[in-house]
Amino acid sequence: MRKPVMAGNWKMYKTPVETTAFFEKFRPLVAGAAHCEIVICPPFTNLAAAVLAAQDTNIRVGAQNIAWAKEGAFTGEISGPMISATGATHVIIGHSERRQYFCETDETVLKRTQAALDSALSPIVCVGERLEEREGGRTEAVLTTQFQNGIAPLTDQQFARIVIAYEPVWAIGTGKTATPVMAADAHRVIRDLVRTKFGKSAGDAIRILYGGSVKPDNVKSLMAQPEIDGVLVGGASLDPAGFASIVNF
Ligand code: PEP
Repeated sequence: MRKPVMAGNWKMYKTPVETTAFFEKFRPLVAGAAHCEIVICPPFTNLAAAVLAAQDTNIRVGAQNIAWAKEGAFTGEISGPMISATGATHVIIGHSERRQYFCETDETVLKRTQAALDSALSPIVCVGERLEEREGGRTEAVLTTQFQNGIAPLTDQQFARIVIAYEPVWAIGTGKTATPVMAADAHRVIRDLVRTKFGKSAGDAIRILYGGSVKPDNVKSLMAQPEIDGVLVGGASLDPAGFASIVNF
């Protein structure tokens, strides 16, 4: 049985004060949620406030990116030891906005994932096709390339510690959601790749989240798909009541 992960990606929204206010409302609404793991990923500047506000709760905190080096002359980057030192436990890697605007590649995704694991962080590694790739019938090929270059070089032990998020780029922040069946089909492609590379039990165990315009009113039908092991939620995770209703689907 795979325990669902319900993760929120705040992107570049909220200050530390707004983070504390969010948690005050959100905490009681999810206090009874034992059916899943809850992870909130605010901007780096809010990690400490989020960790403090999530103390003694079932909510974990994650970053949205990580440097591949531990320290050094990398202006603007934040490393694994720095993220761990805040008390955060997770990190999103390879989000499509990082790939689109900040030149993230499968190769850097791999390096960042290895760095996260070296700092005992749990990576949530994102993959997904763009609209023209889906329309061109290349979804499976794109997912395969992203998997082979960004994930497959991990060792079995490293792989056992990651979560994969399937996020079709055309569904992120657009209000367009993949239908539950489309999402499940893509998840099956990814799970088959995992089985081929890491073996059957790794394929059975890997949690694959869906992300792309998940809202309180569509989460139930997505989570009804046995292939979908949780969600990565952008816009709708900014509202405490809305995200709580997603968590408590
Ligand atoms: C995301 O940022 O990972 C995401 C899926 O965004 P949204 O839910 O807003 O589409």
